Amino acid sequence: MLTALSEEFRALFPGAKTDEPLARHTTWGIGGPADFYVEIRTRQELTTLFQWTRSHGLPLTPIGQGSNLLVGDGGVRGVTLRLRGDFEALRFESDRATVGAAVLLPQLSRAAAERGLTGAEPFCGIPGTVGGALMTNAGTPEGDLGELVREVETLDADGVPRRLTRDQIQFSYRRSSLTGTLVLSVDLQLRPGDKNDILAAIDRQLKRRAERQPLGTKNCGSVFKNPPGDYAARLIETAGLKGLRVGGAQVSPKHANFIENVDRASAADVRALIETIQKTVRERAGVALDLEVWTLGE
Ligand SMILES: Cc1cc2nc3c(=O)[nH]c(=O)nc-3n(C[C@H](O)[C@H](O)[C@H](O)COP(=O)(O)OP(=O)(O)OC[C@H]3O[C@@H](n4cnc5c(N)ncnc54)[C@H](O)[C@@H]3O)c2cc1C
Repeated sequence: MLTALSEEFRALFPGAKTDEPLARHTTWGIGGPADFYVEIRTRQELTTLFQWTRSHGLPLTPIGQGSNLLVGDGGVRGVTLRLRGDFEALRFESDRATVGAAVLLPQLSRAAAERGLTGAEPFCGIPGTVGGALMTNAGTPEGDLGELVREVETLDADGVPRRLTRDQIQFSYRRSSLTGTLVLSVDLQLRPGDKNDILAAIDRQLKRRAERQPLGTKNCGSVFKNPPGDYAARLIETAGLKGLRVGGAQVSPKHANFIENVDRASAADVRALIETIQKTVRERAGVALDLEVWTLGE
């Protein structure tokens, strides 16, 4: 059954893969196989994909840059989809930007800065796609992506296109009500500013990140959300957990809210480390740490 399906899938989408290790598609370098993995470049291909998955009753899971994802060692059933090609388009009109879901945030920040548009600089060092960033309402203390949104173009779970205006979407701390849709593009509202000031702000933010974060290691950014009025990193560090290791996963010695894959870590290693951190911080500080990272698969 799976072999016949695989042949059909590869015939429809040349270049698509079966049993594709998702470790290749996450910044953690962790994750079991996707039954089917495809990079979709046009709206026509997307329509074909929705028809194919619906006719076979297969689930469809979008990923972006995999920079906020813990994919289970058992992998992801059905089709895992990444947008590319036409969805990497970025267009400016006056102080507005129409941005494809596959555009990378640092690219958006810099393109806006080059046009003397301010608002997108908080995202200059976040290594994800705009689609993933809308799902996670990515941001920094300087601002979240949701704040700039005018309209989002989506496909719902049945493949029906929708344009959602800002007041039809709820954005909260690292979450949005877009969950369950496929984001195709977004219209953002930026503001005119001084190009040199904006570029200088970007440089400052990138420098601050390089000082504080273990860049160059395999990680997924902040693992836990900051609890109200406190910082997850401070709580983890105070609990004496910096450097703690389970299998190939280690609490970053540089930033305690990051977990690094230091030696072929499995998702099970990361999960065990997460549980130890949550238990220890609960016992020592009486605080429950919630996950910021998204989990996928088995
Ligand atoms: C070094 C480092 C630093 C980071 N710093 C920050 C930071 O400062 N602030 C911050 O908020 N985050 C940060 N992150 C986390 C991460 O980069 C962001 O959350 C990013 O926006 C995720 O985008 P992505 O494309 O990687 O999404 P993924 O991790 O691939 O996916 C995240 C979720 O979005 C869904 N998704 C992805 N694309 C789509 C789409 N087109 N339509 C529908 N659903 C989709 C996925 O199914 C998944 O549920 C950091 C990560 C790293 C590795």
